[in-house]
Amino acid sequence: MPRRPIVAIDGPAASGKSTTAQAVAQALGFCHVDSGAVYRAVTLVALEGLGAPESWEGARVAAEAAARRVSATPRGSRLEVTVGGVAVGGAVRTAPVTKEVSRVAAMPAVRDFVNGLLREAASGGGVVMDGRDIGTVVFPDAEVKVFLVADPEERAKRRLLEGGRSLDACSIRDEAALLEARDAQDAGRAVAPLRAAADAVPLDTTRLSFAEQVRQVVALVRDREAAP
Ligand code: C5P
Repeated sequence: MPRRPIVAIDGPAASGKSTTAQAVAQALGFCHVDSGAVYRAVTLVALEGLGAPESWEGARVAAEAAARRVSATPRGSRLEVTVGGVAVGGAVRTAPVTKEVSRVAAMPAVRDFVNGLLREAASGGGVVMDGRDIGTVVFPDAEVKVFLVADPEERAKRRLLEGGRSLDACSIRDEAALLEARDAQDAGRAVAPLRAAADAVPLDTTRLSFAEQVRQVVALVRDREAAP
């Protein structure tokens, strides 16, 4: 059987990457690899073991992640991220982790460590991986690359709805400001900044239904698989 493609879905925070990647993986029988969850797991172990975030330094954070056995293994349709053999689940989605993760992800030693895990996880193909640098750095030869964008206000609303929070104007403004600050940090860093690969297909989801955005990505993959 031919090796199945790697599908790279990149984009800013809350652009719908993970939910889209998950649904695309399900439609195709692929594994969804949420690369952000791996950066979050590394941040979690740093918060637990390395004291004040201001003192963290890349080599120490990466060494702590290796010592605590942060790992990422495809299990059927999804990636299982573990620390010391125990699945991390929702523990990587807390506010302290979200606050520090972009700084941790800007450390070259951490990126090397995480990239090793991601490349290993996708070595068999048949993977939909979402992140910030999947099409540019992790898999520059991915068969399909998509760059998702959406207006900050729309992204803020989606994030608030996900968390079951209210959609008043003040919350939307505050959430949009948090997302934009994280994007600025991700796009402005020296190593593997958030940006679209030259050969990525841009997809603005601001006015697309979820079903439609999934349909468009699935169609790109099917076209690619059907190409000689
Ligand atoms: O996707 P998610 O919002 O969970 O990612 C958390 C953070 O991990 C991002 O803000 C970014 O700093 C970092 N990240 C990254 N490269 C990736 C995936 C995530 O730098 N491929």
